[in-house]
Formats: sequence, C-alpha cells, structure tokens
Amino acid sequence: MSEPQAPSSASASDQDPAGQPITALRGVGPQLAERLARLHLATVQDLLFHLPLRYEDRDTVRRLGALRPGESGVVIGRVEHAGIAEGRRKRLIVQISDGTGSADLVFFHFHPGQRQQMRPGTPIRCFGELRPGPTGPQMVHPEYRLGPRASAGDEGPHGLTPVYPTTQGLHQQTLRKLIDQALALARHMPDWLPAELTRELGLPALAEALYYVHKPPVDADTAPLVEGRHPCVQRLAVEELLAHHLSMRRLRAHLQAAADAPTIHGDGRLTRRLLDSLPFALTEAQRRVDRELAEDMTRSVPMLRLVQGDVGSGKTVVAALAALRAVEAGYQAAIMAPTELLAEQHWRSFNEWLAPLDIPVGWVSGRAAGRRREAMLAALAAGDYPVVVGTHALFQDDVRFQALGLVIVDEQHRFGVHQRLALKEKGHRGRSQPHQIIMTATPIPRTLAMTAYADLDVSVIDQLPPGRKPVKTVAVSETRRDEVVARIGAALAQGRQAYWVCTLIEDSEVLEAQAAEETYAALQAALPGHRVGLVHGRMKPADKDTVMADFAAGRIGLLVATTVIEVGVNVPNASLMIIENAERLGLAQLHQLRGRVGRGEAESSCVLMYHGPLSQAARARLEVLRRSNDGFEIARRDLEIRGPGELLGTRQTGELSYRVADLNRDAGLLPRVQVLGDRLQQAHPERVEPLVRRWVGASERYGQV
Ligand code: ADP
Ligand code: MG
Repeated sequence: MSEPQAPSSASASDQDPAGQPITALRGVGPQLAERLARLHLATVQDLLFHLPLRYEDRDTVRRLGALRPGESGVVIGRVEHAGIAEGRRKRLIVQISDGTGSADLVFFHFHPGQRQQMRPGTPIRCFGELRPGPTGPQMVHPEYRLGPRASAGDEGPHGLTPVYPTTQGLHQQTLRKLIDQALALARHMPDWLPAELTRELGLPALAEALYYVHKPPVDADTAPLVEGRHPCVQRLAVEELLAHHLSMRRLRAHLQAAADAPTIHGDGRLTRRLLDSLPFALTEAQRRVDRELAEDMTRSVPMLRLVQGDVGSGKTVVAALAALRAVEAGYQAAIMAPTELLAEQHWRSFNEWLAPLDIPVGWVSGRAAGRRREAMLAALAAGDYPVVVGTHALFQDDVRFQALGLVIVDEQHRFGVHQRLALKEKGHRGRSQPHQIIMTATPIPRTLAMTAYADLDVSVIDQLPPGRKPVKTVAVSETRRDEVVARIGAALAQGRQAYWVCTLIEDSEVLEAQAAEETYAALQAALPGHRVGLVHGRMKPADKDTVMADFAAGRIGLLVATTVIEVGVNVPNASLMIIENAERLGLAQLHQLRGRVGRGEAESSCVLMYHGPLSQAARARLEVLRRSNDGFEIARRDLEIRGPGELLGTRQTGELSYRVADLNRDAGLLPRVQVLGDRLQQAHPERVEPLVRRWVGASERYGQV
C-alpha cells in the first residue's frame, strides 16, 4: 500500500488547473491573496467551491408597486423630490416613483453634488432591497444610474447575480470576477466521478454543476440552490462527502494495517489517585466509556475512537483518565483543542488534576514563540512533560515527543475536522503509532458516524452528572428587551453572572463584532454600577483572555459576546444567558450556547430573544429548546424540522470542515456515499488520491485556525 498523503502538490496542479494557487489568477497580488485567505480561499478550486449565499436578479425590471418588502429588484422610475433630512444621522432622501408605486431612496453617505443630480423628473434606475420605512417603503443605499442611461438595457449575458460570503475589504465584484476566471479553468478540470455513477444518481457532471451554481439563468428557481437541494449543489456535496469518506477510510486502513500501537496496561496508580481526589464520583456512562478506552489501549492496533457526549456530560475527566493510563505505562499524552481559549481551559483543568500527582502539564500554542517555545519543545522531546495540552500548534513539524502514546482531539461541535487524525507521524518510534481519541459534543446518528468517520469506533457518554438542573428556557420577543435588561440587572445585583450573546446571520465576523460592540455600549449604559465585559472574534487574543479571566473570576458580571464563547467555556457561576436573534440559529448551535449555563448550583435560565414574526420552522425550533435539554433528542428533532422548504440560518460557527455538504441536510446521501466509495475504489482506484486531495487537502488548512 502506498503512502497516503505523499505526492507533491506540483503534480496535482499539472493535471488539474483548478489545483493551482489562487495567485495564478489575473489580478491576485499578495494583499488580495491575504484577504482571500481569510475566507479559506487559497486555490482556484477553493473559489469554485465558494458558493453563493443568494442570488439577485439585476436584469428584470420590476414594478415598484409589485415589489414586496424584503425583496430586491431593479426598478426604473423618476425622481420626484430630493432633500436632506437632519436628525441623529444626516441623510439624503430621494423620493422616486414609477407610476405603479413610490419609494424613498436613503443615503447616509453622500456628497453634495449627489443631491444636485437628483433633479425632479430625472430618470433613475436603481437596484436594492425594498424595506418598510417610517414614511413608506424605502431602499437604503441602492445602486443607481441616472439620466438617459437609466432606461438603457444592459449589455452582456443575462443571468442572476451571485452574492458570496465575503470579508472586510473584499468586494462582491472582485469575487465575481475571480470566480469567472476560475470557471473558465474549470472547463478543463478533470471529473473524478465516472459519468456512469453520476448518471445513475441523476446528477450533473462537475463542470456543469459548478457553472450552474455560480451562474444560474435568470429564470432559475433559486430556493433549491440556496438551500442546497438543487441537483447541482447535491452533485458537489456528494463528491465532497465521498472524498472525506475515502480519505478517512484510507487513513484508517493505513494506520491500522501498517502500524503498531504501544500496548498500554496502566497499573492504576495514577488514575486511582485522580479518582480519589475528585469531588464527585464518575457517572455510570463515564465509567463505561473509560473502560472502553482503557481496553482499546491494551491492544497493539492503534485505537481510533470517537467519544460523543452532550455538553456538560464530563468528557474532560474521561480524557484525563485515558491520559494518565498512558503515563502509567511510560508514554506521553497530547490533548488538542480547536481554539486557544478552549485549550487554555483544558490546560487549567488538567493542571488542577495532575499537578497534585506530580505530573507536569506542558503547553503549546501558536502564540507562544521564541525561547519559551524552544524550551517547551526540548522538554517534550526529552519526555519531561508526560502530558501536554495545546492547539493545533501541537502538531507542527518541529514538535517532537519522546514517546507519544495517546492523542486526544477535542473537537467540541466542530464535527468533521477529523483530518487531524493525520497526526500519525508524531508517534513514530519505528512502526509505532499513538492511540487516538476524538471527543465531540455533536450527537451523531450512527449512519452518519459510519460514513463521515469511516466506521470509527464510537463511545457515548449518554448521561449527565447528577444534580444538573435543566436550564429553564423561554422565548421572548425583541420588543420586550427592556424587561430582559431589567431582569439581568436584578440577577447581577444578587451576585449572579450572565452572558449576552450577539449573533448575526450573514457570514461576517466584522458585522458580528460591530453588533456586539453596540450592544455592549447599550448594556453598559442601561446597567450602571455593574461591570460589563465584551469578547468577540476580532479582538486580540490577549485581550480576549483578560476579559474571559475576569469573567471566570467574577470581576465581570455580564459578558457580552459573539458566538466565540460557544466552545467549551466553563464558568459555573454564570446562570443566565440571553441569545439574540435566536430564530436565526440552528438547534445544535443554540443547544451548545445554552450549555454554557446550568453548570453550577443556581437555577439557570436562558432567554431566546427573537425578532418576529417567526416562521413556522423557527417557532418549532425554539419550542424544541424550551421543552428539551437533551442534545440527542434535540438533534433528532432538528433533522425532522429541517425538512425541505425552509432556509435555515444555520451558520454553525466554526464548522468549516465542509464547504458544500451539510451533514444534516445531506444525511440522505450518506448511504449512497458508502456504496460509491466501494465502487470507485474497485473500478478506478487511481482516482481516489486526486479526489481526496481536491477536497480534503484544503480542510487540513482549516484545522490551522
Ligand atoms: P463536557 O463534556 O461538556 O466537556 P466537562 O468535562 O467540561 O463537560 O464537564 C463539565 C463539568 O462537570 C465540569 O465542571 C466537570 O468537573 C464536572 N463533572 C464531570 N463529571 C462529573 C461527575 N461525574 N459528577 C459531577 N460533576 C462532574
Ligand atoms: Mg468539553
């Protein structure tokens, strides 16, 4: 069997023009490449798989009177009146009408000449979203053209205009042009799925699917495209799932066939001391999973086991026990978390538990550099740290171990970032490979685990520690915000702590951070005498840590946060959580967020604040959370509710592992993916490698957050 991830990337781009770096495209210099990298776009094919969030029809002229609030469209009319309104923010308001209706165009940013141009009677063509305004329908900052050009038709091909997820300083127009270039190259992109297979599935060829998704005709039904039900999106999803499946399969086969693992027979001297020192007894489920792990580690076949357990089920202590078993047998254990914040939290737990046993816990993160890092690396290589906690930085090339016996990856709900299994080289001592555990809070149905994780062994901690009080959950309309703030004030006055979570639907860290800053300012003003803190993804890591530490120590009463707090934060005294725009989040994410409270003595509550009116599905989702605190039950209901027809605001933060596929949405494809995998392997084994590289090569980069 050949080495799986070996060949150089040069050979990939030789055969596949889409494998080229993004800088091969015209106009991509270092600065633009850097911005694109923020969206995880590094190669031409990354652009091709960067699918539109939605589409706009900028060709068909609409009648103003027929355009509904919330709809975007082109209208052609005349200026009726233009004037500058003073007020909190100065703005230019231009009243237009087209004979079927009228609207106000509102500009917060404008120059004096702009008003002069807007003479009554001037023809105007504009494109924007119609929204209800204080004096009737309005369009804020529409694109527009004036004068004779207003009614002239557009040159060029007609079609829908895609709107892509983007980032600060990167214009839609730029992305569109780059994707056009990429699409031209895509015509020569090899299609690794044999035509007979895609035909059987009733799905289009790769190039066709890509072209349609980025450039649908003007009359295309966009709902299935946006929701991912369209055959062209499904075609991409199948290919992606297949690539991941094959990659996992190969990795697993390779690991388990070609390598020995250290046989770990712990003598119990450390695990017993840890258990004795804990202020609690393990739950039945924790004990069972602990036994399963211990038994796997006694074998000379490398363990590959997924440990699933709901938020708060106590996975960390189970991980610590497994680590101690490795240490008892003379091996090192490494624990990796997806973020700095979470890694630090783990370091703290591990240190608190292991320091009394005289086991020093090492720390490796992307941030530590220079001499401290070198000293740590030297100590790890010498075996001075039997246990080490860190981020992805743990698996950089220069990190060496004396005798790594066990790797534990805490994915939280970042389900799918499983490429980290490729940590294999780290354990090398001859043919020896470390055992591996992946911990996840995402309840994964069996079929899904089979496919996505290529039949990884699964252990489930299906029980919460006793005495956990369910989090009382209520759904409250945004209009009752003042009441909610008053309630927080009362809770803070009693010494309780609270989270206020700001969420947005558009995939923009910038906007989310902005919203959090505004909310922070407003809450500070509304709650004088209380200490309010703020964390968001765009803050410097050191500042973030200071705020988190202050919150953990009780120096901050109310923490305003974006969804960065989602991953694993443990502050037991926090007993109240407000989630803004709850109607826009998926159930899994809401459940994860809510899991930050209900960890201490006090009765905890969670307020799901929504903007009405609620769609039927949104109402159903909030209702599920109101009724259940059980992650497995919630996941089941999630699948039911996510029937076709509803576009979910399921921006599952951090879930970067799949670009097109969505494990819930595409669950129905999974059994087929397994069969496809067998057939491709048999009929075209030479295609497996490039297929995996196309899709999975990139997700390894994703791991390097
Ligand atoms: P998660 O599974 O979400 O990672 P943690 O490991 O962070 O959960 O555990 C959550 C909290 O529960 C921690 O404070 C931990 O010390 C505590 N805990 C773990 N196991 C038990 C138990 N058997 N009884 C009581 N508390 C426990
Ligand atoms: Mg955890």
